[in-house]
Amino acid sequence: MPELPEVEVTRRRIAPVLVGRRIAQVKTTRPSYFFLTPPGKLRAALEGKTSVELLRRGKYLVARLDSGAGLLLHLGMTGQLFTSDVHSPRLLSKTARSALTPPEQSGFRPDAHTHLMLDFEDGGPSLYFRDVRKFGKVRLLDAKLTDPRLDRLGTDALVVEPAELFELIHQRKVAIKSVLLDQAVLAGVGNIYADEALYLAGVRPTRAARRVTRDECAAIVRALKRVLGRAIETGGSSISDFVAPDGNDGHYQDERWVYSRTGEPCRRCKTPVKRLVIGQRSAHFCPQCQK
Ligand SMILES: [Zn+2]
Repeated sequence: MPELPEVEVTRRRIAPVLVGRRIAQVKTTRPSYFFLTPPGKLRAALEGKTSVELLRRGKYLVARLDSGAGLLLHLGMTGQLFTSDVHSPRLLSKTARSALTPPEQSGFRPDAHTHLMLDFEDGGPSLYFRDVRKFGKVRLLDAKLTDPRLDRLGTDALVVEPAELFELIHQRKVAIKSVLLDQAVLAGVGNIYADEALYLAGVRPTRAARRVTRDECAAIVRALKRVLGRAIETGGSSISDFVAPDGNDGHYQDERWVYSRTGEPCRRCKTPVKRLVIGQRSAHFCPQCQK
């Protein structure tokens, strides 16, 4: 599932092909739960409009339009935002991928999973939002960009201060890992980067949040910023379906400390990495390095 780095990588690469270009035509698939705003209404609100900025709020993207309205884009589990001129194996279905022939040079052709297509007046590359599992979402927002999903978000994990996080966690009885995943506490962190940050901070994911000291909390914040920053630099993690808008895979998965490395040696002490389940989510940690 795309987390803060993957969404930020998407934002940085989509912004240049979206911002400042007048939308000529909007094509969509049929109404479905993917569309929080009905496709017809979306078309009417977007055609002829120009996006003036592309913002990120936690794991959400919001395109602000020159009409004052906003367009909420959420990648969900398998959402992919990219331009019509890319080709990437990750944009193929599993069957097509297994029988992979050299990618067509003509770029990607919209398929049944390409739910939103924006064509621009300048005739340049179109923007596609494709989502095989349809947990992604699009919604039109008012000028205040109000949305229940955005309104409940805590501070963005890239800018949170240690004291602020400590205030939010020091009375919580639940596992620190679960608190870090709570988007109302900290926006943007998901399973991968929570495991990675807790490893670097030396804190076990199972530890009750209220047992995390002020110093450890500061270490967690530093570690979060470090792993999120590094993941943005490397283009994010392409463990499942994430593909950057230019068709490239992210590379953070190649330097993971613990996430999804169950049984493999810890990179620092060689103890096998352990996996357990906390609140229905898997957690990976080194039993030696994390207390
Ligand atoms: Zn270790």
